[in-house]
Amino acid sequence: MTMKCDVLVVGAGIVGLAHALVAARQGLKVLVLERDAACIGASIRNFGFVTVTGQKAGASWARARRSREVWADVAPQAGIEVLHQGLCLAARREEALAVVDAFARSEMGQGCELLSAEVAATRFPSLRLEAQRALLYSPHELRVESRSAIPRLATWLALRYGVEFRFGESVLAVQAPHVQSSRASYQAERVVVCGGAELNGLFAERWLPHKLRLCQLQMLRVRPQAGFKLPASVMGELSLVRYEGYSELPEAQALRERLQAEEGESLAHGIHLIVVQSADGSLVVGDSHHYGPVLPPFASEAVDELILRHLHEALPLREARVEERWVGTYPSSASEPCLVEAPDAQTRAVTVSSGTGASTAFGLAEEVFAAW
Ligand SMILES: Cc1cc2nc3c(=O)[nH]c(=O)nc-3n(C[C@H](O)[C@H](O)[C@H](O)COP(=O)(O)OP(=O)(O)OC[C@H]3O[C@@H](n4cnc5c(N)ncnc54)[C@H](O)[C@@H]3O)c2cc1C
Repeated sequence: MTMKCDVLVVGAGIVGLAHALVAARQGLKVLVLERDAACIGASIRNFGFVTVTGQKAGASWARARRSREVWADVAPQAGIEVLHQGLCLAARREEALAVVDAFARSEMGQGCELLSAEVAATRFPSLRLEAQRALLYSPHELRVESRSAIPRLATWLALRYGVEFRFGESVLAVQAPHVQSSRASYQAERVVVCGGAELNGLFAERWLPHKLRLCQLQMLRVRPQAGFKLPASVMGELSLVRYEGYSELPEAQALRERLQAEEGESLAHGIHLIVVQSADGSLVVGDSHHYGPVLPPFASEAVDELILRHLHEALPLREARVEERWVGTYPSSASEPCLVEAPDAQTRAVTVSSGTGASTAFGLAEEVFAAW
């Protein structure tokens, strides 16, 4: 028998779950089909870093602020621990100081503080601040453990809103209201395809004009000395030329030139430092960015060594044993942070094309349904 629902969501990553939440909150009957037996895509490979500060000015920043609100609301209900709040970004180079200073004075700097190195060292003794000029502190960020948060979110959606999940079921064709999976046929009033980095599958022709590439990141889990406690998420100066909220400031050009001269190898691998901490004390550390139509799954030790050098520059670690290494992939557009395609009136294909889905998916899903 063909199962019927109001909204059928393809993909149980954060983008699919965000759409399931918005639809379920409208009282709709929602079914999520996920081809793998569990979500193992970008949504569980990321830092779980819900970033507001540093998002591109305008729609992305607004989307991130809204998504952060939804995370703060949903996390306790779904049994998801917010492991830390806030962001510390230290500036050592004069050019980096100019960027964080300009950022702190901009509209997007609201709520943030620019602390002298002395004040920051007292407030954040577990950071390595002796060589730094200043530290930008943002209170806005949240951090969750994605690999447990994503399945908990799915379980909560099922229990709280009756969202039905079918894992291990690949969607082969969508012609709304008909949906054919590898196991069954469905009738759905509306279909939202949230396939993440799957650019050659459903509605592949819709992605073609956007010239999407894949972006692959290398990530590490590092065990610091016992008792080491990170006060907040940590980023480094290289982030100031990568995250558009900073890099689009005019002051970033001088920093870019200086980093090109002094950290050319890291820039060539798209490396910037993000460090977050898990409940067991381990640190999730990354990352690099390599782009192409297809990316070999082999992590480079040279890239990991560069990331670890930046880690040691930022934190006073006596021990830093690598416990896990992995790669993750997301679709990347040179110009658009996310894409919403409408193949027909009943169907939407949605992807985050800027590597910010943990930070923007909830806001994006609200926009998709509001405009539909
Ligand atoms: C290493 C790494 C670190 C990152 N760090 C951050 C961060 O700290 N903060 C942040 O905001 N963002 C971060 N990102 C980006 C963020 O993780 C992604 O933007 C987000 O996870 C994308 O979610 P998604 O649901 O689109 O994709 P995915 O999580 O990949 O989910 C897509 C799902 O669709 C399923 N699917 C595809 N096709 C089909 C089909 N035909 N039938 C059924 N199922 C299908 C796939 O199996 C998959 O489970 C990071 C990304 C990576 C890779």
